[in-house]
Amino acid sequence: MAVRSDLSLHGMIPLVLHKINRGAVVDWEDVSVDTFSQIIDFIGNRWAVFAPDGLGENAKWMLTFDDGYLSDYDIVFPLLVERGIKATFFLITSKIGTPGHISWSQVDEMHRYGMYIGSHSVSHRRLSALSIKDAEIELYESKQQLESFLGASVDAFSYPFGDSSSRLHQLGLSMGYRYLCTSMHGVVNAAEYIIPRNSIYSTMVWKDIVGVMEPKMGTRLRWVFEDQVKGAAKGLIGRERYIRWRNWVLGEK
Ligand SMILES: [Zn+2]
Repeated sequence: MAVRSDLSLHGMIPLVLHKINRGAVVDWEDVSVDTFSQIIDFIGNRWAVFAPDGLGENAKWMLTFDDGYLSDYDIVFPLLVERGIKATFFLITSKIGTPGHISWSQVDEMHRYGMYIGSHSVSHRRLSALSIKDAEIELYESKQQLESFLGASVDAFSYPFGDSSSRLHQLGLSMGYRYLCTSMHGVVNAAEYIIPRNSIYSTMVWKDIVGVMEPKMGTRLRWVFEDQVKGAAKGLIGRERYIRWRNWVLGEK
């Protein structure tokens, strides 16, 4: 497998998934194993991770998984190994080894194979709701614990609930992270330390997923529009009303 070592993530389209489900999909964030297989067949060898040798041939997509569910190991890992694809797994350190989540030895196995391990905080709280001191602990202690276990540096962090701010970005950088992953839509731009990520979830049909993976100009513009208003609107009018308002604006049901 050809792997490039000039790590520039500019232009990559990061995707974020959570739990992959063999049976019926219950949570809206879950994705079925069939849909997931279709996604990785589409990606082929065009994957990228946050490691120095982390670019497949003609890399275009970054597969990331949040929360460290057991499906990361049980379902995702073997399918990726089969296809020679590498991905990034963001783990909540206090959840590792708890029911429904992957264990430390599974983390070790995935890391040794070449999967990239990032931090998703210690306890998965909204960082903006915490004092700076507590936010610092979430960022720093999770990084330390993963690094000392893996014997490798952990350069990427994904914000619980995508909850970030420029103040938190500064804090994350000062804690030694190089990549701070949000849940804003988009393509990685020149400011490579803030990584947007595009969610794939259960209600999306294949056409929607391809629309995210191969975004046309209209989609890119909509992403910019959504992200501009999202932060402010969510805070002002509440999530549910925000979604109704957004659907009205975008003419979606
Ligand atoms: Zn999460």
